[in-house]
Amino acid sequence: MDQTTDWPSSLARRLLAGAAASRNELLAVVDAPRRQLGALLAATRRVREAHFGRDVRLQVLVNARSGQCGQDCGYCAQRKTERGVERPDVVRYPLLDAAALARGAVTARELGADRYCIVTSGRQLPRRAFERLLDSLQHVREASDIPLCLSIGELDDERASAVRQSGARWINHNLNTSARYYPSLCSTHTQADRVATLRAAGRQRLSRCSGVIIGVGETNADLVDVALSLRELDVDAIPVNFYCSIPHTPLAGRTPRLTLERCLKALCLFRLANPTKQIRLSAGRERHLGDAQPLALGAVDSLFAGGYLSVGGENYESTCRMVRAAGYRVV
Ligand code: SF4
Repeated sequence: MDQTTDWPSSLARRLLAGAAASRNELLAVVDAPRRQLGALLAATRRVREAHFGRDVRLQVLVNARSGQCGQDCGYCAQRKTERGVERPDVVRYPLLDAAALARGAVTARELGADRYCIVTSGRQLPRRAFERLLDSLQHVREASDIPLCLSIGELDDERASAVRQSGARWINHNLNTSARYYPSLCSTHTQADRVATLRAAGRQRLSRCSGVIIGVGETNADLVDVALSLRELDVDAIPVNFYCSIPHTPLAGRTPRLTLERCLKALCLFRLANPTKQIRLSAGRERHLGDAQPLALGAVDSLFAGGYLSVGGENYESTCRMVRAAGYRVV
């Protein structure tokens, strides 16, 4: 990549003409020197606005089952501990009942959210909990017409089909990082397991949301590789999380400081690798982007509002204010 030319602008023109960014072009995005960040953000904004205008959609999530996870994802507060001891600061509760889920859906709709995401801890919901959740969805759908997304761990074809029949149209299952780096984050399952769930959901014509975490010690090449994996899987939405260190988890204190520049370049990368897909600003946006969130809106078209699973976040109303003040429209 010729660093003396306005290559971000040329790249945007190529993408707007229907081309796909190459691996080298995407590497240039994450490797870009600071002096090119402005040009990169401007080019990314052109691509974003060509496909989404100045629209922003907001999603609300509910932690529907907390703790009790036997997996060892190194960034997660809900992971098992080495001695199987429950972390005192993680609230542990079983699957929320239908009434609680329905109340959350009604509130999310009243706020104006575009989607209600029901998230459960663990690699896979136990069968009885899975069936109970799908039964509850009927109640949720009677209470509110808000579109539902389920993030309920691994799905095979049978479960994906049952989700489809329940009326939920979206599933979330994050790839998190590249296949190469995945074993550094987790030893109890593989990224191939995660890909299998996304493929099963695709076969059942569910829309697929699959996100990443930035700042867990990955290289620039890892970021590009996961962006390309998500493009190859043709997922519909990509939440981008920024790692927030959680005390007493294996990654705490072992990751390089996540800079604003890296966060912004990562957002540009996911937009330019997947121009027409929903790119979602997710956990850690408040901590790592702060007052620069309006700049990030030039790359993303959607945000989670009102907090995350084990990390608090900006509430819905102030998120809307920030979006409008930046010249975007909440739809
Ligand atoms: S990310 Fe999910 S599977 Fe991994 S430890 Fe946390 S709750 Fe368990």
